[in-house]
Amino acid sequence: MKRKRIAVLGSTGSIGVNTLRVIADHGDRFEVAALTAYKNTALLEEQIRRFLPKHVAMAAGDIARFSKEFGRVKFYDAARDMAEIAALKGIDIVVIAVTGAAALAPFLAAARAGKIIAPANKEALVMAGDILMAEVRRNAAVVIPVDSEQSAIFQCLEGRNRQDVRQVHLTASGGPLRDVPRAEHDRFTVKDILAHPRWQMGAKITVDSATMMNKGFEVIEAQRLFGLSIGQINVLVHPEAVVHSMVEFTDGTVLAQLGVTDMRLPIQYALTYPERIASGTPRLDLAAGGSLNFARPDLERFPSLALAYEAARIAGTAPAVLNAADEVAVEAFLQGRMRFTAIHAVVEQVLLQHRNIRKPLLSDIEQADARARVRAAEYIERLA
Ligand code: MG
Repeated sequence: MKRKRIAVLGSTGSIGVNTLRVIADHGDRFEVAALTAYKNTALLEEQIRRFLPKHVAMAAGDIARFSKEFGRVKFYDAARDMAEIAALKGIDIVVIAVTGAAALAPFLAAARAGKIIAPANKEALVMAGDILMAEVRRNAAVVIPVDSEQSAIFQCLEGRNRQDVRQVHLTASGGPLRDVPRAEHDRFTVKDILAHPRWQMGAKITVDSATMMNKGFEVIEAQRLFGLSIGQINVLVHPEAVVHSMVEFTDGTVLAQLGVTDMRLPIQYALTYPERIASGTPRLDLAAGGSLNFARPDLERFPSLALAYEAARIAGTAPAVLNAADEVAVEAFLQGRMRFTAIHAVVEQVLLQHRNIRKPLLSDIEQADARARVRAAEYIERLA
């Protein structure tokens, strides 16, 4: 069997590391063709030694030293050449595990090159999902989501007619503030917020889980990935995080995808699709877990989720603005420059000031993104 050649963009983050674990567990099926990382050069060095990729993108300042060490590897500037890596001829699957807007260029390049794209990043789809998915269709690329909820929906939709879908139920763990009244949210420090109960994730997405903006992004992401209307996407709080999402069909049947909370599961499925093979994850023991609970999200407690729905309804450049403002606001919170509930205030303010472009080009989206970042930074300054 010919091994699938995989590019892991963002190889030192939590999704990247788990992707490499899956690849290492199935060395007969997969090989690492390219790695990209930015900050964690020590781990990147280890990964190069272990997986022997032909192509590596990293921070420009470290390339000279690495080139000396690894003569056979071709090095690229991660800030500039990520799109080039994503479109390389010798690559079958592009795993996009970089955070933030940095995923946009490689996603687009992979779509244009007709690759199998396994996005873990949601920002690219939130910002420019319509443009990206149009390029995917035009170039017969394939998108197999890695995000656990989107993977669940993808799996429930397999082999079904899209016209038969009534609704999608996106599940949310509810994050660390699920049972905390809004008035008490500002008592939570960065450290409290980062002690997330269900999934091991990066800092940005963990804060987004606490505000539930992460779920808002996933609403927009699902809309774009699966061609749904915003009214067809329902969020359900499900603290056990066993049901990763569900699809309800016109006859009333609901299909759910269940599994342990281990990212290796959706990652592996994206890599082996449409096959299923044994994985290194523990098995799901429903009897040991006891009960599964579901509730409607409290939009007064989590106004960021309502804001995301609003941006999705406005569409055009609004989701990109939502994403950009959130990225700046979360960063300010993580740096201790503002309190937790200010994240929502900043994003709301920037969204209110935004003048929407309904059918944006990529350049409109990039401009809206840049402007939103400036506005968010200004607003944060004023708050301080
Ligand atoms: Mg998710």
